[in-house]
Amino acid sequence: MSKIIVLIGAPGAGKGTQARILEERRGIPQISTGDMFREMKNADTPLAREVQATMATGKLVSDDLTFQIVQDRTSREDCKETFILDGFPRTAVQAEMLERLASAQGKEISAILVDVRLDHLEKRMTGRRSCPVCGEIYNVYFKPPKTDEVCDIHTDTTLMHRTDDFEEKVKVRLAAYEQQTKPLIDYYEKSGRLKKVSGEGELEEIYNELERLV
Ligand code: AMP
Repeated sequence: MSKIIVLIGAPGAGKGTQARILEERRGIPQISTGDMFREMKNADTPLAREVQATMATGKLVSDDLTFQIVQDRTSREDCKETFILDGFPRTAVQAEMLERLASAQGKEISAILVDVRLDHLEKRMTGRRSCPVCGEIYNVYFKPPKTDEVCDIHTDTTLMHRTDDFEEKVKVRLAAYEQQTKPLIDYYEKSGRLKKVSGEGELEEIYNELERLV
């Protein structure tokens, strides 16, 4: 049976990085709600402006809107089989919505927690940089680019520092995770659908463990 793999973890746990590698090496599509919302930045519509305003505070976008983009995106051809959700669900209501989507698509849900201790997360987020061209993710503390603030692959491109990765926003995002998303770990555990991987350590080690569970 095809699966919906839900990657759960705090912001900064490395879900996006790992999901990107899984997509590259295993061809499993990565559906990231955060990425999809960031792409809306270029659209000048009332809805896009509302999303941008919410994201800038570090708070969560509404459940209905978030579910709508997940539903649209996962109805495409490339999501016919197994796909990975990175950053969704993030609330109990979204988890309910996903149950309905999964049964409509005839898929089972398998959740994987990427576990990182809270005190490690702040540096992961405030140090994060990414290439606006290829999406490669760096970290000024843990995985710096060869030249400061410049992509290793696209050497004429300055790396991006997400505004919501600034320190004061990071605190709001971690609080949203604690209050709204963390309870989902229990939810999937109780229904016997949770696996865990440590998100601390070498990138390749984490990936190998994750690939084993997928
Ligand atoms: P991320 O890149 O996953 O950390 O997401 C960045 C921002 O996008 C979050 O801080 C939220 O404002 C918004 N966002 C992403 N995924 C969701 C979601 N499932 N529900 C609500 N808001 C979300």
